[in-house]
Amino acid sequence: MESNRELIERLNVEHKLTQDEYAKLIDTFDEDDFKLISSLADKTRRDIFSNEVYLRGLIEFSSFCKNDCLYCGLRRSNTKAERYRLEKDEILACCEEGYKLGYRTFVLQSGEDMFFTDDRICDIVSGIKADFPDCAVTLSIGEKSRESYKAYFDAGADRYLLRHETADATHYARLHPPELLLENRKRCLYDLKDIGYQVGTGFMVGSPFQTAECLAEDMIFLRDLEPQMVGIGPFIPHSDTPFAGFSQGTTQLTVFMIALIRLTLPSALIPATTALATVDPIGREKGLVAGANVCMPNLSPMSVRKKYLLYDDKACTGDESAQCRVCLERRLNSVGFKSVVSRGDAPKFVNTKSR
Ligand code: SAH
Repeated sequence: MESNRELIERLNVEHKLTQDEYAKLIDTFDEDDFKLISSLADKTRRDIFSNEVYLRGLIEFSSFCKNDCLYCGLRRSNTKAERYRLEKDEILACCEEGYKLGYRTFVLQSGEDMFFTDDRICDIVSGIKADFPDCAVTLSIGEKSRESYKAYFDAGADRYLLRHETADATHYARLHPPELLLENRKRCLYDLKDIGYQVGTGFMVGSPFQTAECLAEDMIFLRDLEPQMVGIGPFIPHSDTPFAGFSQGTTQLTVFMIALIRLTLPSALIPATTALATVDPIGREKGLVAGANVCMPNLSPMSVRKKYLLYDDKACTGDESAQCRVCLERRLNSVGFKSVVSRGDAPKFVNTKSR
């Protein structure tokens, strides 16, 4: 097989490797390989997006969840989690504040909370679209039927985030309770795409039992799905979950995976995530200089920030939205980036498969 350097250089031109080649690279990259892939990913992002970073205002509107994912602090078995849900008016107030701060995309995320029926979700989505017609609405509320996804879309939702978490079925089964299946997760993602959503998927890096082969499978899945956005972040243990004793994913591997995704899907939107900022004080900046181009600051009301805890020690739960905005801009500028006030839709030339 070619050297890692040769694999990276070929990936930079062809935007694809075989699963074995991805696995070898992920398993054996060294410091020089890391530098090479980061600089090529940085150049790729610059060629397409210049130094502009898109912002998405994140509103975590409910911490109730009917699911029991083993890694997540919101899992229903976590009786210590404080649960809350926001009223429609509170959500609209977050959007109002976000709009003034320059956000033109609102991401509504929650646990799978059955209180929010399709009618309630549609009412919230259409309410936001009526008040802020120049903004995009993204939903991130889990696995639903095709009919539900269609209803939200018809109500005005533009985008949907649903991480596949891992594309390896055996690994998936070790992270989730038996009633959750990779097959259904994938069905959701293909339905969302088919309905017309801009779709985001992704996975945790360094989750329990993950191997380089699993990550390589994630890369093959990404090439197949061709999502507009790919969000990845390190796994971080939550102390009140079965995975409390596992170690967290590393900055190094997460940033390497960001670069790998940038070279595989050159025009994808790739967030520098809060999880990355949690494991490393300058994690977000490290992600940006290795190919990321989106940030999703928190717009949730201060009163609930510390209750939406997917993992321990979550970053940025102590700052007001306005403070977050200022802090973020300073951080972006420190590495030569700037934010743009725009919906930040994915470029239309996403296809890489034909190349
Ligand atoms: N209920 C929604 C939102 C889930 S939270 C859904 O199912 O899509 C958003 C993401 O946080 C998850 O997809 C998962 O990848 C990530 N996450 C959850 N627990 C985590 C942990 N302990 N460490 C790092 N990321 C985590």
